[in-house]
Amino acid sequence: MTVHVVGAGVAGLAAALALVRGGRRVALHEAAPVAGGRARALPDGTDNGTHALLGANRAALRFLGQIGAREGWVEPEPAGLPVLDLETGTARRVALSPLGWGDANRRPEGVTLGSLLALLRLALPGPDRSVAAAFAGHPRLLRALVEPLTVAALNTPVAEASARLLGAVLRRLGGRGAARLFVARQGLGPDLVAPALATLACHGANLRTGSRLRSVTQEAGRATALDFGEAVLVLGPEDAVVLAVPPWEAARLLPGLPVPQRHAPILNLHFERVEEGPVRFIGLLGGLAQWVLVRPGGVSVTVSAADAAVGLTDAAAAARIWPELRQAALRFGLPGPWPEAPPPARAVRERRATPRHGLNPPPPPPRRPLANLVLAGDWTMPMLPATLESAVRSGEAAAAALSRASRPVPA
Ligand SMILES: Cc1cc2nc3c(=O)[nH]c(=O)nc-3n(C[C@H](O)[C@H](O)[C@H](O)COP(=O)(O)OP(=O)(O)OC[C@H]3O[C@@H](n4cnc5c(N)ncnc54)[C@H](O)[C@@H]3O)c2cc1C
Repeated sequence: MTVHVVGAGVAGLAAALALVRGGRRVALHEAAPVAGGRARALPDGTDNGTHALLGANRAALRFLGQIGAREGWVEPEPAGLPVLDLETGTARRVALSPLGWGDANRRPEGVTLGSLLALLRLALPGPDRSVAAAFAGHPRLLRALVEPLTVAALNTPVAEASARLLGAVLRRLGGRGAARLFVARQGLGPDLVAPALATLACHGANLRTGSRLRSVTQEAGRATALDFGEAVLVLGPEDAVVLAVPPWEAARLLPGLPVPQRHAPILNLHFERVEEGPVRFIGLLGGLAQWVLVRPGGVSVTVSAADAAVGLTDAAAAARIWPELRQAALRFGLPGPWPEAPPPARAVRERRATPRHGLNPPPPPPRRPLANLVLAGDWTMPMLPATLESAVRSGEAAAAALSRASRPVPA
């Protein structure tokens, strides 16, 4: 009686953890050489891309607690996010939640009664429209806060991003501590993937890497065999499957499944820079760089919704981004030398980083398309953008759906 979790991204890891905690025997299968999926460490230890969590991401933070990794996620900017506007030269600290805007020093530009009402209107029911259309009358708040938040949380340009989904994100920022921002102190390897695998191993759930599921055999609405190429696993009557793979793989394995078809890229640029000092996180407006994460081991820059930027060469991206981040580093007094010439840098391009969160999303897939097979993955959660939070929640929901399915029906 084994549950085969296919895909060791965060959704698969969260599903596996929920299952072993519920007393189930779990086998984890991963196609790549390492676990973590879209939140992984590269062979040299660099993160594929900077990952930030908000206090509102309660399931993701709870998951970190369960794997003993919560301490590794630090809050670099407890006094509000430092934001430099490269066009106007204005530097300020900004609170992400309107609850922090009582303090004028932490208020973004463009907060007026009218723009606050536009924010509130996002929470009301009504036909969906793009974020750009919803804030057409409030360009200053759109530029200073709404656009950076949309691009960061929805990875979709404001002209196409769903105002309704942004409203759902903003509503969750209202609670106490919900707008606090956390990042991994060392990186996704040591602060997320390794502790998750170690915790699972303690529960007897081991990972097989390089093990790509080629096809699922189905009979009478059940999965009966999993073909991994080098081996075909025949499923017993009590065995079950959590399919925690990205949407395009899920659609290949289960033809006809409704999945998101369009994705948006994220470009990350990692500069070599070994310099002791605290972890820092800075926002930039009006340039190519959007967020800068400074850690003792290097400086990483994120460009989300990077349709145009993803085509730049490493050298062209570094030549544009380094002067922007250097300006911010000097302006906010970050310690250490910040030479004019960019240090060596490497770009990581995730071309299908997340689904695009536009208007009229496809219907969510069924959680349990086959009697003994459930789906997990950031793309399976309606009304949540594709993030670590939705990945964890989807994994937990998949584990819960399997427990419900295996419960005897009362007479
Ligand atoms: C650059 C970047 C930056 C991001 N920044 C943030 C952020 O700041 N905050 C945030 O919350 N989220 C962020 N995200 C989103 C977050 O990483 C994802 O939402 C999350 O990791 C998705 O997890 P998942 O398990 O659903 O999918 P995946 O991570 O895609 O996991 C699926 C796994 O299945 C494996 N697989 C695929 N096919 C098969 C097969 N046939 N057989 C076996 N295994 C298979 C894959 O190799 C992969 O390991 C970012 C994503 C990227 C790419």
